[in-house]
Amino acid sequence: MGIGDGIRIGHGYDLHRLDALAPGGEGRGFILGGVRIDSDRGPVGHSDADALLHAVTDALLGAIGERDIGQLFPDTDPRHESADSSVFVAEAMKRVGERGFGVVNLDATVVCERPKIGGYRDAICASIAGMLGVSVDRVNVKGKTHEGVDAVGEGRAIEVHCVLLLAAGD
Ligand SMILES: [Zn+2]
Repeated sequence: MGIGDGIRIGHGYDLHRLDALAPGGEGRGFILGGVRIDSDRGPVGHSDADALLHAVTDALLGAIGERDIGQLFPDTDPRHESADSSVFVAEAMKRVGERGFGVVNLDATVVCERPKIGGYRDAICASIAGMLGVSVDRVNVKGKTHEGVDAVGEGRAIEVHCVLLLAAGD
């Protein structure tokens, strides 16, 4: 084997606009990492608008050199209206498995002024660990604010960054 044949790194990023919950606004019920968050505002999007799972999906696809979530699941496709985003992660994981890789660990940062996600952190890590087929200690999710500046800081958007490592074998 050549250098690095057995490992791949992936990066994911996503942003969703936040709005008052429908019907007053366009916001959907706030779901992050597959966990429902108590909030009077929620993300706007075609699927369930789970920014964390979208970033994780892009990191998985990126690690195996595939195109992004928008190519795989176009938001013009009515089948994805209100879709549970764990379906996107599952499809990306299937492709990772077909290449002979598994997840080593995931590290994510959620940037969001409110709601505070700290109280949901353990549930979110457990939820994602289940989707990635790893123990919960392999998943880390950190929450940060945007210090009150720009759209994220003004509570008008949520942003997620993540990196993950794949390794060949199980
Ligand atoms: Zn998204």
